[in-house]
Amino acid sequence: MASAPQNVTPEPPGPYHPAPMIRILAFAFAFAALLPFARASAAVEPSPAAAAPPTVILISLDGTRPADVAGLPLFRRLAERGAAADGLVPVFPSNTFPNHVTFVTGVEPDRHGIVNNAFRDPARGVYRYDDDPTWLQAEPLWSLLARAGIPSASYHWVGSEGAWRDGLGPKHWVRFDSRVPAQRKMDRILEWLALADPPRFVTCWLRGADATGHRLGPATPESAQALAEQDAALAQLAAGLEARGLLASTTLLVVSDHGMARVERTLDLEKELEAAGVRASVIGGGGFATVQLGRGAGQREAKQRRAAVRRAVEVAHELGFEAFARGETPPDWPTANPRFGDLVVVAPVGTAIVDGHGALAAPAAALGLGLQGAHGHRPEAPEMAGIFFALGRGVDPGARPGRVRALDVAPTVLALLGQPQPAAMTGRPIPLQVAAIRSTTGSENPAR
Ligand SMILES: [Zn+2]
Repeated sequence: MASAPQNVTPEPPGPYHPAPMIRILAFAFAFAALLPFARASAAVEPSPAAAAPPTVILISLDGTRPADVAGLPLFRRLAERGAAADGLVPVFPSNTFPNHVTFVTGVEPDRHGIVNNAFRDPARGVYRYDDDPTWLQAEPLWSLLARAGIPSASYHWVGSEGAWRDGLGPKHWVRFDSRVPAQRKMDRILEWLALADPPRFVTCWLRGADATGHRLGPATPESAQALAEQDAALAQLAAGLEARGLLASTTLLVVSDHGMARVERTLDLEKELEAAGVRASVIGGGGFATVQLGRGAGQREAKQRRAAVRRAVEVAHELGFEAFARGETPPDWPTANPRFGDLVVVAPVGTAIVDGHGALAAPAAALGLGLQGAHGHRPEAPEMAGIFFALGRGVDPGARPGRVRALDVAPTVLALLGQPQPAAMTGRPIPLQVAAIRSTTGSENPAR
């Protein structure tokens, strides 16, 4: 169990309920009313408030595609008054836990160790949607920044619930509870920022369009409604930052971890392998799974396993999947970490892997629905693209950094906070100013 319980901010559980429309309109109006001030100050040099130390707020909307937010009022304003990327390329695999940990470590899942939402560690056993930071094999920003004297806070983020191994954790954090509405999280962030010793790096996960996307597929009225509520909550946060004069010292980054693709067919990979004479344990599902083929360490077991891997790759290929023995993936998809199992399998967009126990499909099935949306497919697929927006300190209105990568987010946070980038981070800070975009790429809208 995580140490440092004195840092826990108790959060009374409450049912998730939609914000009444009047509230949404009130936030939208409040934000709109503040716009003239923002426009007037955008052209001038930072005000005296810029003397406040730089602060970064990183918000993630799970499973949200660029098209999902294009028409939302707050996101339209973020694009006008700040930076908007064409899309964000997730790391491999394009799943929630691996990408959220990459956002706060700046390294591939192969290196930070959260290789999927669920996996088996040869020594420690099964990991499944766990927020315990001791599973992380690379130091998260909360710890790195704390060592530099910069306090952090986190409202629901993978690996933020306490201290990282022998390192540190966020000064303030909240135990995960899926029922907490976005509005309450935004209120708490503003409260944190009003403290005498405020956090200067804040992370916060929002449900985005992920749950509705899995249940009903991408681009449904249900997803739109879920996102409209979160847009209103974010608008209130932006208005709060603006009203307190904090946008001169604070940068708001809004990202998502991956997109969502419509499911046309589902396949039980474990069953298919079994039918082909390969006894395997498939972990994960949707667009990506790891496969375990026996666990013995002897010479004979190793030889049998190699043969099983070859046969499993053949079977997976016959089913239209991409499949690689661990460590033999393309360089962009490193899988040396033993937590990847013996084999990794990537389903083509449109196909979702379900396990024999129907674990992935179960929540949807309980509602009498199929599994209609999935991710985990190859990160470069357009359907897997996430979002990236930035507003506030260090961001030019109308900046268009093109396509950005999940690996670039942590270097961007460090650059905004004036902190050095550790050598292990291979990404680079995302240019958020028009001149920087021109000088680093030679064009305003580079293809990356
Ligand atoms: Zn998901």
